[in-house]
Amino acid sequence: MKYVSTRGQAPVLEFEDVMLSGLARDGGLYVPETWPTFSAEQIAALRGCSYQEIAFQVMFPFVSSSIDETEFKELINEAYSGFSHRAVAPLVQMDDNLWLLELFHGPTLAFKDFAMQILGLLMDRALIKRGERATILGATSGDTGGAAIEAFRGREQIDIFILHPSGRVSDVQRRQMTTAQEKNVFNIALEGTFDDCQAMVKAMFNDHEFRDGMKVTGVNSINWARIMAQIVYYFTAAVALGSPNRPLSFAVPTGNFGDVFAGFVAHKMGLPIEKFVVATNVNDILVRTLETGTYKPDGVMATYSPSMDIQVSSNFERLMFEMAGRDATRVSALMSDLSTKGEFQLSENELAPMRDLFIGMRIDEDETVSRIAAEYEDNDYVIDPHSAIALEAGARCSGRAKDVPMIALATAHPAKFPDVVTKATGVEVAQPARLIAQLKSEERVSQLPNDLATISQFIADKTRASKVA
Ligand SMILES: *Cc1c(COP(=O)(O)O)cnc(C)c1O
Repeated sequence: MKYVSTRGQAPVLEFEDVMLSGLARDGGLYVPETWPTFSAEQIAALRGCSYQEIAFQVMFPFVSSSIDETEFKELINEAYSGFSHRAVAPLVQMDDNLWLLELFHGPTLAFKDFAMQILGLLMDRALIKRGERATILGATSGDTGGAAIEAFRGREQIDIFILHPSGRVSDVQRRQMTTAQEKNVFNIALEGTFDDCQAMVKAMFNDHEFRDGMKVTGVNSINWARIMAQIVYYFTAAVALGSPNRPLSFAVPTGNFGDVFAGFVAHKMGLPIEKFVVATNVNDILVRTLETGTYKPDGVMATYSPSMDIQVSSNFERLMFEMAGRDATRVSALMSDLSTKGEFQLSENELAPMRDLFIGMRIDEDETVSRIAAEYEDNDYVIDPHSAIALEAGARCSGRAKDVPMIALATAHPAKFPDVVTKATGVEVAQPARLIAQLKSEERVSQLPNDLATISQFIADKTRASKVA
């Protein structure tokens, strides 16, 4: 499988180079040249298979030029062995035709582990094979950082630098990142918002001299390998509920559009998905875009669901590329409008197919709290605020998405957001043992200003990658 950039000016690459480069050199995002497809018979054959077996079937077409079958199977088994549920991604019924897909049984209790665990192994393998080192640079609104650090801590070939918006991630999220004691882990608390962190990382990626000198790579969801790993649980959930014979819909709590784009890929690959509910908190750029066709970032508001406090949704560019008929010139023009005018306007031709498949739904703070409370009262089940947004949005859209099962994605364990969960339910959230152990150690973090020169210098001073010939 070869990969092309959404802006058409970067070299066409194989999987391993796409994974190691993160962002394409023209500022675009890599996508597969073609989508592999599964026939109805092939989908039916996945029924009853383990998560790991389905993961292999779904992902292998994307990586087959870079890794052989046996080795890939071994990596998959290792990646998901640290999950604390045998089914890896179990489904729970919440109401008639309404289901929750629990994606929080990984080592950092958020769905980011699904992609990060396999990415850590794939990157390490590729770098060892090449005798190279790399500098991982990432921005986090909370969960990506913890999951990335967990996956890359102590890896000899890699130094990892994670920027988080100072004071804007939950206590648990911060401690999950900053308590790693390994010398290859660097936490930067940036004085700014998540979008500032993301802009900073983008700026360093676009500085080719810096990027090449420090062997910089990214593990944000701009990295195709992240998206690829997230396609899998759409398949496992769908076949568990009767696909390919029975269509279904998903409600996805959305920030960077990575997770819902992975669902879109599953749809492209042949899963009979009726609708995706794009569920946001009050930072609702995607809902507004679906309504008006105008993509216009606004100020970011801090909410109970910090992992979705995003106004620049980087993976949306991958969807635009598809909706514009893979016209990279058109995508480049829209993205250039965004940087010069602060917004862009989608055409009716691009919007119509988007609206066929995606329903935007904004859930505010009170509605989030009410949903957490209602699940506790009615179902004796404690959910986190991100999952509550998905569940509330999914429940509201079940009717509009016809008479098919609605699966809401539960992206984090409630113990990661104890304050709002306790506020909603009146009970203390039990902390899983792995979290208690993780949170005891001392914190390691550098507080730095929102200034490109300062951050670049910090990284240049600390990374080992630039010192290797
Ligand atoms: C990252 C994250 C999201 C948003 O996922 P995107 O791929 O950025 O849309 C939702 N919920 C939780 C708990 C997250 O960590």
